[in-house]
Amino acid sequence: MQVETQEMALFRSTRAALAFAFNFTHGQYKPSAMATMMGGARPEGRGLGGLDGAGTAGLIRAKVDALEPRNRGQILIARFAVQALPCDCRHACCSGFRANAEWLKAIAEISAAARTVLAGCQDNFRLRSVLVRRYFGDQKSLVDAACAAAVDRGTASAHARKVTAYLKGEERQARYAIEGPLKAAGIVE
Ligand SMILES: [Zn+2]
Repeated sequence: MQVETQEMALFRSTRAALAFAFNFTHGQYKPSAMATMMGGARPEGRGLGGLDGAGTAGLIRAKVDALEPRNRGQILIARFAVQALPCDCRHACCSGFRANAEWLKAIAEISAAARTVLAGCQDNFRLRSVLVRRYFGDQKSLVDAACAAAVDRGTASAHARKVTAYLKGEERQARYAIEGPLKAAGIVE
């Protein structure tokens, strides 16, 4: 079983597997886009657009959820889940997008954990949260971050250095930790 599934590994990289899993449920990927994401690894495909796709995404998510400590999984969600989803509520005030609750929850948990690296600094919840979002791709500039949190630029950049160094280390460990389980399950080559 093990050998057989490994021969049929779906993804060439851990990155591709995670990106697939955290976006599949939103129906964002057309079969052609999925094939591209998988680096054309399996042109013959395995029906990833249908139930197989849902099953595969669920399996990858379960491996992420099983990571210990829990923060590792949250780091991967923050990196690979989309920040906003198309919204079709049709309210006049709607921008056409709504925040992805899963991504926001991951950011909140990571921000709480990041507090430990700012020991000795004046804690600023708002700033911490903005810096974490920024690390995971939010386009906000450091000046905007400082302004939103009502702190001076010096404070913002000092906190940014610490938070970024911490998150880089955490992300490296999280990516390393998920690789083994995904390979063992025959999902990644
Ligand atoms: Zn809406």
